Parts: sequence; C-alpha cells; structure tokens
Amino acid sequence: MTANIAIDGPAGAGKSTVARRVARELSFIYVDTGAMYRAMALYLIRQKIDAQDTAGIEEACGAADITIVYQDGEQQVMLNGENVTGILRTEEVGNMASVSSANAKVRKKLVALQQKLAREADVVMDGRDIGTEVLPDAKVKIYLTASVHTRALRRYQELKEKGEEVFLEKIENDIQKRDEQDKNRENSPLRQAKDALLVDSSEMTADQVVEEILRIYRERENA
Ligand code: C5P
Repeated sequence: MTANIAIDGPAGAGKSTVARRVARELSFIYVDTGAMYRAMALYLIRQKIDAQDTAGIEEACGAADITIVYQDGEQQVMLNGENVTGILRTEEVGNMASVSSANAKVRKKLVALQQKLAREADVVMDGRDIGTEVLPDAKVKIYLTASVHTRALRRYQELKEKGEEVFLEKIENDIQKRDEQDKNRENSPLRQAKDALLVDSSEMTADQVVEEILRIYRERENA
C-alpha cells in the first residue's frame, strides 16, 4: 500500500508551496488537485460556457481530457494534449474553478484520476476534499489554514511577481467568496476531516509549516 499525505484547506493557505516541499523531502510525488479543477475551468472558459450554466458544464466536461505527466519532478497538467500548466493560476480561471468544481460530474471525473495517482505512488496531495473524500485512509491528514488577510496578501504577491495587474482588496473579496463557495457547496464541501490536524500558518513561515508536517509524518511512521 502507498503512504499518502493529504493537505486540505482554503485558497491561499500555502498548501501548494508546503506540499511540494514536503514531497521533495520525503521523495513522494506532489499532486496539485486544484490545478486539475483549474484545467477543467480553463476548458469551460474557452468553450464560452457560463459559470451558472450547470447543464452546459455537465455536457461539456465529458470532452475535456485531463491527464497528468511529470517533468523534472514537477506536475504538468495536459488538457486535450496541450500542456496548460503555466496558464492556470490566474484569478479568472480560479474564480471559474471555484464554481465549476461544485459540479458532481466534474468531481467524479477528477477524483477518479486523483485516486489512481495515489494508488500508483506515495503522494502528498493538496486540495479541498482530499482527507474527507479522495484519500480517506491517508496516513497523515493536515488542515492548513490562515487568516483571510494573510492569504490575500500571499496571493497578491504571487500574482504581482508574475506581472499581473492586481488589487489587494479585490483579491481579499475573491478569497472570501471562494471560501463561501467551497465550504457551502453540496458536493464535497471544504471541511476539516475528523482525523485531520489543524495547522494555522498565519504566523508561521513556510519552513516552519514544512517542519511541522514532517514531524507529524515521522511520528506516525514510528508509532
Ligand atoms: O487550490 P486552487 O485555488 O488551485 O483550487 C481552485 C479551485 O478548485 C478551488 O477554489 C476549489 O473550488 C476547487 N478545488 C476543489 N477540490 C479540490 C481542489 C480544488 O473543489 N480538491
């Protein structure tokens, strides 16, 4: 059986930075499930499907072939054969993903892909429902969070470094809206699994969070 680490939490809590580093330390594979939902969202945007058009999303999502390959240890998301990894982390795609990921058909398709990856290798997987739905038997489950303001600031800096024109207040509003959508949706809402450990990173550096997760993992391993 593979050893898996599940990291869930709201947008901008630092999941991907931390998960990537924990994976490197343990020689596990990092699986970024948000990128898969973002690839689906990009497909829907390109098909000019409205975020509120549930029937349109259900019909279109079947034609989006999303697969994962690894290049130099980094996850690459392929959408119908095109590597779209570099164009997924925009606010437009994130906002669409937050809505389209609530769709049961979209989730069924992507959860199956995530579970297959976790069966094939030891993974650190991050998302919203990894500990609760995707990998209920994960060896370690972490619920990583931070205050809305801290998360908005981090996303602001990330986007600014990429040269995007961004406004902190708008990002803060987007994050709040995304939290609402992720927590209140009917299918796989964001919540802390009963057996997940809460880590609040508001006052922690990424290094400290990585150390804490490695400590928890090693403790479990030796138990
Ligand atoms: O984590 P990231 O911001 O890249 O995720 C984009 C969107 O995908 C989130 O707002 C969330 O709605 C959705 N998502 C999800 N389940 C996951 C990962 C992401 O619903 N496991």
